[in-house]
Amino acid sequence: MIEQAREALKRVYGYDSFRKGQEEIIAGILNGRDTLAILPTGGGKSICYQIPSMLLPGTSLVISPLISLMKDQVDALRRVGVPAAFLNSSLGAAEYREVVRSSLQGEYKLLYVAPERLDAPMFQTLSEQLAIPLIAIDEAHCVSQWGHDFRPSYRQLAGWIARMANRPLVAAFTATATNEVARDISEMLKLRDPGVYVTGFARPNLSLSVVTGAQKKSFLERFVADRKEQSGIVYAATRKEVENVYELLSRSGVQAGKYHGGLSDAERAETQERFRFDDIRVMVATNAFGMGIDKPNVRYVLHWQMTGDIESYYQEAGRAGRDGEESECVLLFEPADMQVQRFLIEQGAGDADRKAIQLSKLHMMMNYSRTQRCLQQFIVDYFGETGVAACGKCSSCLDKSEPVNRTDEAKMALSCVGRMKGRFGVTMVAKVLKGSRDKRLLEFGLDRLSTYGLMKHLPEKEIADWLYWLVSEGYLRLSEGQYPVVSLTANALPVLEGREMIMQRVRATVRQSSASDNAASTPLFEALRQWRKEKAAAEGVPPFMLFFDATIREIANVQPQTTEELLAVKGIGAAKADKYGGELIAIIQSFIGEGLPLGSDFPPKQTAPNRSGGSRASGEEQPSHVTTLELFQAGQEPGDIAKERGLSRVTVEGHLIRCADEGLDIDFSRIIPADQEALIVAAIEKVGTEKLRPIKDELPEDVSFFAIHGVISKYGFKSS
Ligand code: ADP
Repeated sequence: MIEQAREALKRVYGYDSFRKGQEEIIAGILNGRDTLAILPTGGGKSICYQIPSMLLPGTSLVISPLISLMKDQVDALRRVGVPAAFLNSSLGAAEYREVVRSSLQGEYKLLYVAPERLDAPMFQTLSEQLAIPLIAIDEAHCVSQWGHDFRPSYRQLAGWIARMANRPLVAAFTATATNEVARDISEMLKLRDPGVYVTGFARPNLSLSVVTGAQKKSFLERFVADRKEQSGIVYAATRKEVENVYELLSRSGVQAGKYHGGLSDAERAETQERFRFDDIRVMVATNAFGMGIDKPNVRYVLHWQMTGDIESYYQEAGRAGRDGEESECVLLFEPADMQVQRFLIEQGAGDADRKAIQLSKLHMMMNYSRTQRCLQQFIVDYFGETGVAACGKCSSCLDKSEPVNRTDEAKMALSCVGRMKGRFGVTMVAKVLKGSRDKRLLEFGLDRLSTYGLMKHLPEKEIADWLYWLVSEGYLRLSEGQYPVVSLTANALPVLEGREMIMQRVRATVRQSSASDNAASTPLFEALRQWRKEKAAAEGVPPFMLFFDATIREIANVQPQTTEELLAVKGIGAAKADKYGGELIAIIQSFIGEGLPLGSDFPPKQTAPNRSGGSRASGEEQPSHVTTLELFQAGQEPGDIAKERGLSRVTVEGHLIRCADEGLDIDFSRIIPADQEALIVAAIEKVGTEKLRPIKDELPEDVSFFAIHGVISKYGFKSS
């Protein structure tokens, strides 16, 4: 059966090989084994349950909390010819009933359901009337209390599955699970002897950075300006910050959108769509944005503030580069941000236990922001994975700065905290060190401390940051509660006694964008991208739904001339080749057919790629196209000539047409099949020669562009 799975991978999705873990997971499911799979974001989880669903008899259920993701996946499946539907709150009552009705008739291979939609009677009906071979549970960490996104509806689901008379296979998928959460998922969902697959958490196409001590506003402006063509997300912790950052970017002329809980549903939906359609380049958002956005070409995710835990950070940052291309994740870090997160935890829902868990997670996040270790290693380590090599491209790996000795400032700060006897917060300590005339400070007589004004040369905010840094390094401790006070830890002693030095690195740089968006934009790539945008708009779907950037880039590089060649491109399966192949090939033809008589649909003809071997080979006396002609006249076919000369077939065909146009002796009967000639002439008379595509559309599939060019040349039809 795994053979069939491989065949489906190629036919349906256009991919040649499975990614790490996919084959084992699919084989496990097809062999009837419950599954727990932990794959990083972008690792390709969907295929792991979609392919088995296609191969197993009946309708598989996919449980997902992500409404817009469901729609995308269902759209994508339908586009490649797989019957699928979804049930969630975005459907109107009538639509909903219709989907249920069709489901019960077994019309779908996959049915996506939001867990809160799956109430008991509904579940009962489906499980009694449908053949359900598999229940795939996406974002399975939502079932665990220990996870960062616990959802009660997932708990209920687990109960129902356990009570099903004819229990299907259950396969659980998540990207973010520590060992503890993984165990919890397995227990909660009552998985039966599951195959557990952990492919690793590393995301080799992401460059992680933590930027400390930067002027955030100018940093952001420069960062975005340096990445003009790229899509990115800027996450901020609060609505107000989102508004501020949005204003900032809009003022500097960036096409930005904003997204947070204070906007209406309609506003949010519209902005999200515009982002997906590449109309908006940068989305500024709170963490409300992103659950379920599956825009594959997000090239960077920049966090304006730190998140409350590493799971959330990695999940949000991980929205960059789902298409596997180089992407960047930048965290702008100010130690004081810890306070914002603390406040959110204190104010948030949850009992004391839950808050304690959240606080310790916050602590780890703080450590991430401060660590000098490889950031990728730090994260995978957090999720329990060892033995991952340093990434070599995160801000820690690239950091060549010498640490600065800050022992003196540390002593000043620590002794001031000591003298304030654990009764005040960071702000008040900073005021004392600054030598502020604050009213409360004076009331408490803190101006009489010997440390008063010791750091008056620094701005108060910088002093506060310095104190938070000492907290994060473990020299100071903050109490819990809404008004945390600061006190010394045991680690402070050796510093105060002069037995330990304090070294600090200050980092404020991110390596220059290496994302390939800017790098490889040839005229053909741009033309294909433009075509994709127009085509997608006409179909009312986001551009990536047609092809990913990587696929477009590969087409631009490989320049396929035939359907078979097109099918060899990663990301093009039978359905897409069928639907778009003709147009793609026409665009490519118009670009690489240098010397062809037809005007191209896309103007920059003079910049058509000059492929190696496409121009005159060194030492040749005569023009390249004449050499081609000689071989043709000696009886060789264009395909053979291409092979012999190391050229593409289309270039060779272009040479021959050019020879014909130049009046050289050429046997047109070898270019134009006899039974097609009259048809082509008729088509040209009907639609003209301004563009090639309409002529092709008039004719049977098997008429080639070469033959059309041949007729135009032979009869002297000229493009206008
Ligand atoms: P996840 O849900 O794990 O974040 P997805 O299932 O959305 O990831 O897959 C991420 C991207 O990788 C998708 O665009 C998908 O088409 C692509 N992909 C998945 N499997 C393969 C594969 N074997 N070869 C190439 N691309 C793949």
